[in-house]
Amino acid sequence: MALIQKNIWTIFYILLLCGIGFLGIVSYAKWNNVREHYADDQINLVKLVGNATHSLLLSQEMILDVLGKQVLRDKDPRILDELLLLNPSVVAFGFVDVDGNYRYVNTKFDKAKLPNLRQNPLTKESFEYTLTQKSMVLGRTYYIAASGRWGIPIRKSVVDDSGKIMGVMTAGLSVEGAFKIYTDRLSLSEYNKVTLIRERDRFVQFQSASREISKEIYENPLPEVFLNALMDAIVQRYAVSKDDIKTSGRIYTASARDVTGEKIQFALKYDPRYALWILSDIDETQITREFMNHFFGYILLFVGVHVVLFILFKIISDAENKRRADLVFQATHDSLTHLPNRAYFQQYIHDWMGENAPPFSLLYFDLDHFKNVNDSFGHHFGDLLLIEFSRRLLEVKTPESIAIRQGGDEFLLLSYVTDDHELLAQAEKIMQEISKPYRIKQFNFVVGASIGIAKYPEHAQSVDMLLRAADIAMYEAKKYKNSVRLFAASMQEGYLNRVMMEHMLRQALEKGELYVAYQPQMDRNGIMYGVEALARWQSAELGLVPPDQFIPVAEASGLMPKLGDFILKKTLEEMQRFQEALDIRFQVSINISIKQFMEANFLKKLTREIQKTKLDNLAICLEITESLFIEDIDYLLPLLKKIREMGLYISMDDFGTGYSSLNILRKLPIDELKIDKSFIDTLIEDVTAEKMVQNIITIGKNLELAILAEGVETKAQEEKLLHLGCDRFQGYFYAKPLTYDALQTFVEEQKRH
Ligand code: C2E
Ligand code: CA
Ligand code: CA
Repeated sequence: MALIQKNIWTIFYILLLCGIGFLGIVSYAKWNNVREHYADDQINLVKLVGNATHSLLLSQEMILDVLGKQVLRDKDPRILDELLLLNPSVVAFGFVDVDGNYRYVNTKFDKAKLPNLRQNPLTKESFEYTLTQKSMVLGRTYYIAASGRWGIPIRKSVVDDSGKIMGVMTAGLSVEGAFKIYTDRLSLSEYNKVTLIRERDRFVQFQSASREISKEIYENPLPEVFLNALMDAIVQRYAVSKDDIKTSGRIYTASARDVTGEKIQFALKYDPRYALWILSDIDETQITREFMNHFFGYILLFVGVHVVLFILFKIISDAENKRRADLVFQATHDSLTHLPNRAYFQQYIHDWMGENAPPFSLLYFDLDHFKNVNDSFGHHFGDLLLIEFSRRLLEVKTPESIAIRQGGDEFLLLSYVTDDHELLAQAEKIMQEISKPYRIKQFNFVVGASIGIAKYPEHAQSVDMLLRAADIAMYEAKKYKNSVRLFAASMQEGYLNRVMMEHMLRQALEKGELYVAYQPQMDRNGIMYGVEALARWQSAELGLVPPDQFIPVAEASGLMPKLGDFILKKTLEEMQRFQEALDIRFQVSINISIKQFMEANFLKKLTREIQKTKLDNLAICLEITESLFIEDIDYLLPLLKKIREMGLYISMDDFGTGYSSLNILRKLPIDELKIDKSFIDTLIEDVTAEKMVQNIITIGKNLELAILAEGVETKAQEEKLLHLGCDRFQGYFYAKPLTYDALQTFVEEQKRH
């Protein structure tokens, strides 16, 4: 179980690890994907802006070229006004001579108020530079205060037909009109900006972004390190030279740090004709943010899936735990009464016996006559009775005490009460409750109990000794039935006697102290037709021990099967020898104890012993007592039938003392009823005894059974029994149990008469 438990969570952790791995891979892929996505977008953006800028500038250059030639020829500025109208992205046109003076401007301007481009420090450099260049040159972006807009001066040198430079055609390109229109719309996000940078001096020509841009951007050149950093990043990524970047016409993308030190991803292209860098850059934070949006989604999914998995595994694990708890409960509790069982007792009693544990008492319950209920009404009734019994026990016991079903009809109660008076009062109270009649179905039962009590640590210090002490006390209580006994040292004597006898009995078998005596059985004519084999123990230490004493000890100690085997063997062997020697045939009755009879291999042993007896016509009768039928009748009946099929007889011993109902008697495959000696004893003086004997004989005859009276001691008894119709007789009146030799004398004596 624990293995499954562990495995379940191992599987869960493996799945969790796989999940984390998967999350890692997917996130990494997404990260790259987002970055590439932004790189691609920026490349497209740079391509678009680059192309648009280039064609815009190209068209403006053409206009300047044509315009320059036109004003030089016509010396008339009106053409400038016309074109201004056609060209909304241009703020103004003007023609400046090589000395920097405006010669022609749009008519709305006053030429005289315009600065000399060569003398104005802001324009001087780019003006002079223009004169050296063939293609159009961009001036520094400036703020046109009059219109509140930003403009870019564009200038192109004008040459006459001979190729002499005549001046510069200049125009103000409105940033709004020329670039913003397309760049603002193309911006990828608020973190993206597109910048046009003049290669020559790193001045920003134009910057677009959806957020507000500070004007200073146009007033100072970008730091050289910044552009170098971009170059370096490209050089490193594409393995190209800086010149390649300018000449290839390709768009490059890489990561670097911007002027403020922020990490950016950028795309860059160079326009060689206008010496412009077209740069798109975006804050890495934006990329990270977008990735994070996805990543949180993944995390959410991951957590969700694993929470569901966890719940699932938890359910399985809980079910498993419950199953285990159930198993433990099943193992430590009785399935019938649900009380803790013997296993529970063995497991937890040590807690009660801990070093500083308080003293406690053990009450040992044994139901009286429970087996009768089981036998007469079936096990189902017995079960119901036990359930009801334990219910009452639970009801009447104090809350802190523990009731345990020790097995069968034996129960234990552990209680912290140790005061003798209190203890006995408690036991009496319980006794009263459990002695009340039990109503099961339509029947009423009265079932008493015997209670033995032992105290820890006063009477015993170990589990076994405590149980034994309580058992001894219970054994004492049993003698009187339905009573309570507190353990006393004196009780142990009887117990020790039993233990000692048991010990000696074991040895007796080996020492050959046991033998068999045979008591003759007579027919109506006074002729011996059989003998009853009776065990004898001549102990070296104890003297002659009567079977009434050692047979119960053998039964209680588990020695009975062995002892029974011995008697069976010995009897058959001796009687075979005897009958062969005297050439006489008579029946041999052998007492079979319940313990012996209920042994699983009893029939096998019996068959084997009988087969060994070569005397086939040796008539053998097994004497069993009524109390045998307290045992399982469904097991017994077939067994008895088989024994009879083997040609053996069966006699019911001690008849009249037990509880067998006539119903059972009718079903039993028996041959003989043996009227108990107690009835014969009082037969002459007691009318009830006579009635009883009369009844037994009538019943027996009805069932076609032979009737044997045992314990016949007087002539009067014999005569009465003959009169009542008894068939067979056994008793001191004819002979006591005899040794082999004495039996021989007896038989020879009989022969002579
Ligand atoms: P049981 O089977 O009822 O045996 C009859 C007992 O009555 C025998 O006592 C016998 O000696 C005694 N008895 C017979 N006639 C008279 C009589 O006229 N007057 C008196 N006072 N007693 C008479 P025993 O041999 O002491 O056996 C006692 C019991 O021990 C037996 O009762 C039987 O239950 C048991 N037992 C004896 N031998 C064996 C045995 O080999 N196997 C088993 N399982 N039990 C045995
Ligand atoms: Ca007998
Ligand atoms: Ca008897």
